[in-house]
Amino acid sequence: MDNHQEHTLEFQANGNGCTGAAHDHDDVFLKKAVEEAYAAVHCGDGGPFGAVIVRNGEIVVQCHNMVLRNTDPTAHAEVTAVRMACKKLGRRELSDCEIYASCEPCPMCFGAIHVSRLKRLVYGTEAESALAVGFDDFIADAIRGTAKYQKVNLEIKKADGEVATAARDVFQNTKSQLVLY
Ligand SMILES: [Zn+2]
Repeated sequence: MDNHQEHTLEFQANGNGCTGAAHDHDDVFLKKAVEEAYAAVHCGDGGPFGAVIVRNGEIVVQCHNMVLRNTDPTAHAEVTAVRMACKKLGRRELSDCEIYASCEPCPMCFGAIHVSRLKRLVYGTEAESALAVGFDDFIADAIRGTAKYQKVNLEIKKADGEVATAARDVFQNTKSQLVLY
């Protein structure tokens, strides 16, 4: 069964076009992360989580959870994206890059985001959206205001509007196909 297409999100330009603001493309990149989340399930690669790393407004890598495909419990979307981006750029840090995650990162991925020095994180939906379909609560509380995390120099943005709804809906839309681990 391949119903990936029906979940492919058409992204419409907003009203009268570009305003030139630095973060205008957040929704575009986040929607790609959401599409990757669907692809993870439809390809049987892993759970419905996607991540995109962007540098200077251009996508470096876009990937999804590979836990099942790789038989690797650490192959979450964000960790996979960090590994691939570093390999592609040929360096160990990503301080000029931003990461877009379909869902709020778990503590492991949040750690990977820190050690790779990504400068900005935008995520689509709260961990609770994943918990609601059976993922365990390891995901939650990674970035929920502890002093430890507040100290770091990382801009974090939770998306809102249409793209946030799309990110949240991933879990309910893939629920029947999920292999929980
Ligand atoms: Zn993770």
